Amino acid sequence: MDNKKPAIKYVALRLIFAIAAGFAIFNFKIDYLEGYLFDLRAIVNAYTNQIEPADSPIVLVQITPKTIERFQGDPKFKDHIKFLNLVTSQNPKFIIYEFRISDDDRFADITGTPQEEKEFSNFVKSIPNLIFSTQNLKMKGDITDLSLRSPLDIKLSSMPISADNKSFSKDGVTRRLMYQYQDQTMTQALVAAHFNPSIQNPDNIRGSFYYLESYQVYINYKPKGFFKTYSFEDVIDQKIPKEALEGKVIIFGTDLERTSKDYVATPFSRQINAMTAAELQANQIQTLIDNNAPVKVPKYVDLILTILTSILTVYVTLSLTPAKGLMILAATLFGASLFALISFVFFGIWFDLAHPFLAIFLCYYFFIPYRLIRENRKSWEYYQKHKLLSEVEQLKTNFISMMSHDLKTPIARITGMTEVIYKDPVQLSPHQREALDTIRHSSDDLLKFINAILQYGSIESQGVQLHKQSKDINALVADVVKKHQFLANVKKIKIIQELEPMFPTSVDPELMKQVFSNLLENAIKYSPEESTVHIRTREENDSLIIEFQDQGMGIPQEDLPNIFMKFFRTHNAKTTTIKGSGLGLYLAQYFVELHKGKITVDSSQDKGSKFTVELPLDK
Ligand code: ADP
Repeated sequence: MDNKKPAIKYVALRLIFAIAAGFAIFNFKIDYLEGYLFDLRAIVNAYTNQIEPADSPIVLVQITPKTIERFQGDPKFKDHIKFLNLVTSQNPKFIIYEFRISDDDRFADITGTPQEEKEFSNFVKSIPNLIFSTQNLKMKGDITDLSLRSPLDIKLSSMPISADNKSFSKDGVTRRLMYQYQDQTMTQALVAAHFNPSIQNPDNIRGSFYYLESYQVYINYKPKGFFKTYSFEDVIDQKIPKEALEGKVIIFGTDLERTSKDYVATPFSRQINAMTAAELQANQIQTLIDNNAPVKVPKYVDLILTILTSILTVYVTLSLTPAKGLMILAATLFGASLFALISFVFFGIWFDLAHPFLAIFLCYYFFIPYRLIRENRKSWEYYQKHKLLSEVEQLKTNFISMMSHDLKTPIARITGMTEVIYKDPVQLSPHQREALDTIRHSSDDLLKFINAILQYGSIESQGVQLHKQSKDINALVADVVKKHQFLANVKKIKIIQELEPMFPTSVDPELMKQVFSNLLENAIKYSPEESTVHIRTREENDSLIIEFQDQGMGIPQEDLPNIFMKFFRTHNAKTTTIKGSGLGLYLAQYFVELHKGKITVDSSQDKGSKFTVELPLDK
């Protein structure tokens, strides 16, 4: 329980921090980045699920450098009269004339005598669906209308272009269209309403928003060159199909690179001459006709998404492995982009991507160093602990061997003195003899114990040197049995040896004898009186097998995996009076493995145990 409390505290702290970071990041002004991300979506959108060019009611007619060549200069008023005659003969719905206006409010690029000018003015006024448009706006309180000077006296209608120069991403790209300013409806909306009457009610205009006294929408761009385009001379020379203009909106403009006002930068290209003003107007009108402008989601939705990405990034950075974390963050970046793209292209919904992106990068770069510091501290603590532990281990080993060494001398003295009393001719009473026997056995046990510990200590500190000789294993076994016969007799245990003749093999005889000793001693120690211990030896394939089988207390199943660990004793052994250090089997295994052999046990509780030593035969 206590372990959990700080964890919950940390989780809460991180959460608070992530939310605060999300809030802060959301207030960063990074519209420039969002501008880029918007454009990418707009481009994909332009090439996906769009109407066929033939289904658009808009046709462009442009004056190009070729026109200038053909007319040896700009077409004159009389050429325009001829042009308009031909155009109107095809019954278009609207003709929108967008032309450069000079400082004195005349056409900058159409010339002729005052007589011709007057004629032109009279002529155009007789065409009811001809609109002369200007990018200028009539402001509230203006007394006069927008119009060209006498003798033209032509009324102009506003058809503004709004580039992102002072707001949003400030990169000069035209992304929006203004369809209403103060109380005037702009030409684009007036024309579009003829094809889609529902937009006469501004409430029906999708994606509409209010900005600086105007109502605007984002343009749903078509790819550049989408709209059918003819040149001025094509019309004059009657090179266009007969009914090409019937029922259409003709937008007439110039593509002569004379002024930047004739061009706009678009999401497709940020060059200032990326698209002609006429083509832009076509896109604006088409957006209103289709009424499919992208809709910006409310700010609070963007804020929530930014906070969620902050939380995710903080969690991933602090809690997962670096590789997994990076993978998840990359997947999140990709997933968020895909989500935003699909929403935009298929549902016309525009989510802010820039802030969630920034949240991922900032939170990642902020929390990675924090994590590194934390992990460094952890590994430093671990290192210190480890160092301390190994120092303690070393101290323990030194202490044990020092102690044991100093204990050996007094014990030798006790044993010596006991022998002296045994050999003394003085008759001992049965009671005294019994006491003397106990002293001798106890000091024998103690000596064995100390020897085992000393041996363990020296193995731990300096390892063991093997002194190998070619030996008959059966002889070694017999030797060990002889030494333990007395112990077996005391418990009336029968030791049966079934030793098959074997080839001599090279072993360290002292160590091997100790292995057998430990196993036989255990077999006798952990067996009841009057039971039998079997010792079998045989050759099998390339190995020598030596088995010690008893009918003793056995080893519980759950203890079997631990039986060869140092200082381990089974629970049932510890509860008896049988003494032991828990080192015998550890040393036996150690010595057998030094000989590249192995030692295994097979035992069940109360039925007895069988220890098997397997040694490789000399080749
Ligand atoms: P110990 O000095 O305690 O005998 P060992 O390393 O020789 O230490 O043995 C470890 C433990 O394995 C013993 O304490 C005992 O619980 C168990 N054990 C070893 N040999 C036998 C056996 N033949 N029968 C039953 N238990 C045994």
